[in-house]
This record gives sequence, C-alpha cells and structure tokens, in this order.
Amino acid sequence: MTFEEKQAEYARLIVKAGAAVRKGQRVYFSCPIECYEFGRMVVKEAYLAGALEVVVHWQDDVVARLRYDYAPLEVFENFPEWKALEMNTYAKTDVAFIYLTGSDPEAFKGVDLQKQEAAMKASHEALKDFTKAESTMAVKWTVLAIPSRAWAAKVFPEMNVDTAMTRLWDAIFATVRIGSGDAYEAWMKHADTLAEKCRILNEWQLDSLHYTNSLGTDFTVGLVKNHRWEGGADIDKTTGDRFFANMPTEEVFTMPDNRRAEGTLVSAMPLSYRGTLIENFRFTFHDGKVVDYDAEKGKDCLTSLLESDEGSRRLGECALVPYPSPVAKQGILFLETLFDENAACHFALGNCYETNLEGGADMSEDELHAHGGNTSMNHVDFMVGTKDLKITGIRKDGSEVMVFKNGTWAF
Ligand code: ZN
Ligand code: ZN
Repeated sequence: MTFEEKQAEYARLIVKAGAAVRKGQRVYFSCPIECYEFGRMVVKEAYLAGALEVVVHWQDDVVARLRYDYAPLEVFENFPEWKALEMNTYAKTDVAFIYLTGSDPEAFKGVDLQKQEAAMKASHEALKDFTKAESTMAVKWTVLAIPSRAWAAKVFPEMNVDTAMTRLWDAIFATVRIGSGDAYEAWMKHADTLAEKCRILNEWQLDSLHYTNSLGTDFTVGLVKNHRWEGGADIDKTTGDRFFANMPTEEVFTMPDNRRAEGTLVSAMPLSYRGTLIENFRFTFHDGKVVDYDAEKGKDCLTSLLESDEGSRRLGECALVPYPSPVAKQGILFLETLFDENAACHFALGNCYETNLEGGADMSEDELHAHGGNTSMNHVDFMVGTKDLKITGIRKDGSEVMVFKNGTWAF
C-alpha cells in the first residue's frame, strides 16, 4: 500500500469502524486545523457512508494557547451558553461524534493552572447532558489521532520534522492495523477476541485483583459488585451499532471500588498530563484513597491533579492490556494517552464509566457512589503494566485464579 492508500484506508476506517456512520445520520467532526487535508478526506468518507450532514469544528492549539495566555480568568469560569446548547442538543439527536486529536503534548505547558481548572469545571457543569450521552453510549463517538508537526517533533526529537511526521504516521497506521489486509475486518476480529475475555471475566465476578511486579508494585484493588468488563467495540444503546470509542484500543476494563484499594502502585511509563511529563511516580493507597505519592519529575503537576476534587484521589478505571501490545511494539512513547494507555495495563484516577456497573447508566450520582463508583471532573490514565506483571484474581470465597502471568493473559 502506498502512503496515500493508507491514509484513504484510515479515513474509511474512522468513519466505518470508529464512528460506524449510518445513512441519514448527522456527523459532528472535530479536527485540528493543521490537518485540514486529511480532515476533508474524513468528511468525504462520511458523506459517502450516507451522512445527512457533517458539522466540522476546526481546532487550533496555538489559538487556544493564546486564549489561556491573554484572556482573563473570568472568561474560563463561564462556559458559553450557546456552545453548551449546541453540544447538549446534538447529543440528543441521531449523531456520531468524530474527534481527531494531534496535539503538541506541550501545547499547554506552563499555562495558568487556575484558568485550566476553571475551564474544566465550567465545561464539566455545562456539558453534563452531552457527557452523559457519551458515557452511557446513547450516541456513537470515536477518538483517533493524526500526526501534527509539533507532536511528531516531540516524539522523535532526534529527527528532522518531515521524517518524524512519516515515522509517526507509520506508527499510527501500525497500531490501527492498516497496511496488511482489510483493516475493517481486522478490527471486527480484534473486537471478538476482547469480547471473549470480557465474557469470561464477567462470569468470574472476581472480588479483587492483586498486582505484583519487579518495579515494586504490590497492590490490591477491589472490584464493585456486579461489575462489567468491557473492551473492544462499544454498542450504541439506541441502535445496537458496534463502534469504537477509541482507536487503537487494546484494553478490557472495569470499575474498581473507590473504597477498596490498598498498597503501592508504581508507574511503568511516564504520564503526559496537561503538557507536563510526570516521570517515575508511585502512589500508596489506603481505603481506596491515595494517602502518599511521589514522582521523580513533575510532582507539582501530580499534586494539582490529586487536589482538584475528592474523586481525583480515588480510582475510576481498572484496565488490562497484554504485553507487548501493538502499541508497545512500536517501542516509542507517543506522549498521547490514546496510544500510551493501550501500551500497558493501567488504572485511572477520577471518574468511572457508569457502564462498568450493571444498571450503572441509570443510577444517580449518589447511587453510583453507594455501589463504589467514583465521580470526578478528571479521568487520568496511568500505566502500571510490565512484562513481568502478575495479577491474581481473588474470588469472594477467598480462592484464587491467575489472570495475568508474565505480563499477559493467563487464561
Ligand atoms: Zn483505559
Ligand atoms: Zn481511561
């Protein structure tokens, strides 16, 4: 396949597999302005798939950064009503959301944290309906990445930018299974494999998982009662369509009990959070809460994350990814969670996914809490998986079953 053929295949994959666009459906498409040529290819593919209308929102990191640098705090404290209306209203219609990201990982480095916090709080409040529609799969949505020059330069600092762009495109193609055979078919097969792991784990209904590895992780996390493991394809609640909220995706994940986490978790990869790289960090948990933490680099940033709200100190996601995944095989740090979280087993601090609990999507926030679910304005993934990671599943009667051995599936 030539580079152009691979790009065309990627645009088709985004529309057909990622967002599963159907005839007559509206598409809401967010794309970095720098990648407008590829963006136009996606728009065309969406129309070819029968989209009623493709609404495009061009994003520009540089402009967003200038806003943070020059606009006063009050601008960030107030989310525009019309914008909230737009998103919340679209989320109630027959729509598929496509988000292409290609951000410079350091685009917002050093930005006033107070403004960032204010912006997050304001949008969290204003977009509740929209967020709920996405988190309960009442609409189809998909997040994928596209290289930008600033991003490529950070991933491959030793190369000239043109070469770095080509390398990053190649790495993305490989992780989304483009280049050998029919990518769409490959994704359907991959989804079946992950669904089978979920089926078995859901049958087991383990009470807790015990993690150990040579980095010093010795950690037990409780899983909520009636938890559901999910992974691979997502199912649109209304239409039953299969779509992929993230591509690539290699994980199966479930809901940890926000009251039951004990011991030490050591990071296996750096975490790029709001433009800062946090390196070699560790958390100590007691009664589900981070009670101690440290980082060789970026500790301030970690502090600001943990202190943003009560839920940011507790876990909202527990995810299993066999080592080495197609992402890990690239041997690079993408500096982008979409990829790096699919490199290894991880947890998320902050908000849980309601669908990871039986009936969770229909619960109020209080009910969700009562079941051990976590809520927060944050959801930040950090990697803990290594090639020697061992995970033992513990059943309610205390008996054990091997879940992971030498970093990968033991069943
Ligand atoms: Zn995850
Ligand atoms: Zn996550």
